[in-house]
Amino acid sequence: MTATIIDGKASAARLREKIAAETQRITAAHGIQPGLATVLVGNDPASEVYVRNKGKTAQALGFKSVHVAMDAGTTQEALLGQVRALNADKSIHGILVQLPLPKHLDETSVLDALDPAKDVDALTPTNAGLLMSGRAHLVSCTPAGVMLLLKEYVGDIAGKDVLVIGRSLLFGKPAALLLLAANATVTMAHSRSRDLPALARRADILVAAIGKPELVKADWIKPGAVVIDVGINRVDAGDGKTKLVGDVDYEPASKIAGAITPVPGGVGAMTIVCLMQNTLIAACAQNGIEAPKF
Ligand code: NAP
Repeated sequence: MTATIIDGKASAARLREKIAAETQRITAAHGIQPGLATVLVGNDPASEVYVRNKGKTAQALGFKSVHVAMDAGTTQEALLGQVRALNADKSIHGILVQLPLPKHLDETSVLDALDPAKDVDALTPTNAGLLMSGRAHLVSCTPAGVMLLLKEYVGDIAGKDVLVIGRSLLFGKPAALLLLAANATVTMAHSRSRDLPALARRADILVAAIGKPELVKADWIKPGAVVIDVGINRVDAGDGKTKLVGDVDYEPASKIAGAITPVPGGVGAMTIVCLMQNTLIAACAQNGIEAPKF
């Protein structure tokens, strides 16, 4: 058996078109241009690429895009001042502080300073709490992207056994809550879980967000299961170059799974587009307009 490849790039392109159309409609009807600000402290090359791509996508969709580049030695006070200035800027509807921050800065107090209405990564306690209560309108981008892929490729997941490996605030926890809200039977695993392969073999849908290259082996996968690989790991390609791999050992896994996301071109492709979706939703909410449903 060869798995269906879950084409995140194609799904992301379709969603992007819908967002572009809705943005045009909302701008024409209400004179609102969604605005996204990205804040990057320091010059980590991977973070620079992510932030640049976010800015480019925002511009291509007709959003206002602002980038704030801060020195690696920036103080906590200077960063908080920048966040507060963006909170107060009416032309900015979404603020993304690229994480991780340099070690001398405290992420928690930066997230606490962010206006929850502009928290398009949905990392503030307010948005995490609203998700827990089933009332979120801004949902973490990568979990939101995964839910869209499952909707497209699986349909109804009610009653399915889902294993989420990883319990981060950014992915694992919000993903588990969204899956639960969709009536799946959700198990969460992490570095202290016992017998991960046995837990994985029970799953109809296996979601890996670990950050360990190819940790999930083919013989962990229930034949025909849907495998969602969130991991993005840069490894040595053996020819002096590097390449990206996921948390799942893709080639052998794709011979056992029913459907699988590749890395790259799977989940990652959805994340930036879901960020744009959140920015548009935030712009509507901040202007008292009903947000489009995607
Ligand atoms: P994270 O904060 O480092 O969390 C990793 C999670 O994996 C933790 O809960 C950890 O358990 C668990 N873990 C680590 N080693 C394990 C092991 N051997 N067995 C079982 N569980 C283990 O990472 P994250 O931010 O959630 O990201 C995870 C991966 O997804 C990374 O590769 C990241 O680059 C990628 N990612 C991709 C996107 C995208 O757009 N596609 C977005 C976000 C993240 P403990 O809690 O016990 O430490």
